[in-house]
Amino acid sequence: MALTGLEIYKLLPRTNCKDCGQPTCLAFAMQLAAGKASLDACPHIGEEARERLAAAAAPPIALITIGAGEHAVRVGNETVLFRHEKRFENPTAIGVTVDDTLPPASLAGRVRAINNLVFERMGQTCRVDLVAVRGLSARPDLFRAAVLAAAREARLPLVLMSEDTACLEAALEPVKDGRPLVWAATADNYARLVPLAASYGVPLVVQAAGLEELAALVAKVTELGHRELLLDTGATSIAQLLADQTRIRRLAVRKRFRPFGFPTFCTIAGDDPVQNVLDAAMAIAKYAAVVVVDTTDPAAILPLVTWRMNLYADPQKPVAVEPKLYSIGNPGSDAPVFLTTNFSLTYFCVAGDVEAARVPAYILAVDTEGTSVLTAWAAGKLTPERIVAALQASGVSERVKHRRLIIPGSVAVLSGKLADLSGWEILVGPRESSAIPAFIKEHWKT
Ligand code: SF4
Repeated sequence: MALTGLEIYKLLPRTNCKDCGQPTCLAFAMQLAAGKASLDACPHIGEEARERLAAAAAPPIALITIGAGEHAVRVGNETVLFRHEKRFENPTAIGVTVDDTLPPASLAGRVRAINNLVFERMGQTCRVDLVAVRGLSARPDLFRAAVLAAAREARLPLVLMSEDTACLEAALEPVKDGRPLVWAATADNYARLVPLAASYGVPLVVQAAGLEELAALVAKVTELGHRELLLDTGATSIAQLLADQTRIRRLAVRKRFRPFGFPTFCTIAGDDPVQNVLDAAMAIAKYAAVVVVDTTDPAAILPLVTWRMNLYADPQKPVAVEPKLYSIGNPGSDAPVFLTTNFSLTYFCVAGDVEAARVPAYILAVDTEGTSVLTAWAAGKLTPERIVAALQASGVSERVKHRRLIIPGSVAVLSGKLADLSGWEILVGPRESSAIPAFIKEHWKT
């Protein structure tokens, strides 16, 4: 459990020497409890108290890095059960399988397909994160060859997945510097596998069916000195997966149950591709840190990366685009000028629908601190005064020879005052941006 300010205070020297920059030890304790100060600021804390305070200050779920270099993936470090309590920290890493039973050309082609699962959403790049090499052959030579071939082609970190310890031993050494994730230490093999993973410094999945068995196995693994772990309950149904993931997160965050203080891992497999997407989406929401799926179909991956992007957006920081004048196509001096806000989702909806209209145009995105049109209007962030200031700052009047501004239909109420203050003619556009193509066709005469 996290310590309260008073509990922290009892562990401090209580001399009020002010060396930490705080007037008293109590003030420093309160700052520590609020996460606004670092233990290092007090040079007088004894070793034992420092260890206790450091352990209490550690995140309830460890931060684990998979891979190395530019595409290394960080998972864990989560502190809440629900996103609105603060935020989720490190997005679920999505891995895609490639099997060691594939012929070499097919294997390389599949890894290239995984590399290419990259999408643009709301101005952000979303992609899958891991290439999961599955050892279905149970042959160390084949698994090692497949891992080496995948490592040559992949631009992403690897997951080495085999139920055969000899296969993992054969394949791990040549790729250890890339810090692959190894799946999995079990009750049968942990004594062999854990020292190997620890000596190579690679993260390791610990798998056991049932939470009690998993907690006991994690305790044995950590006793062997390896703490870069992920947890897999091997759930065989989506209901069991949901129950396991929820219990692990609750015990880790609410009870600070240390054996479960690691990110979780799961695989999604089944015959129905649509159900697989739904199951993977559930796992991303509750609370898998790594989800391995068995498809390279962009139609299956796109909803998952989109869902993940939404879940892991900071609810206290709206996703915003730069407030400025945007050009769609090559707008000329008679191009229409649309008004919207700098909330990312709103801007990209409007931009997409303006593009669909096939009429080059300008979009003026007013700074509303990343809020949508109606929210901004209700909060007094989309006012005639702000719009006029944005119009003037954008320089749009030097680019177009007309003076007609199209505003969203939902804020038609602004049109009178906006016309008076700006001197522009205000056209009230559709309430939904999807109607922009029809609106342009009907109302925009050059
Ligand atoms: Fe207290 Fe340490 Fe700060 Fe001194 S430096 S006031 S002992 S917390």
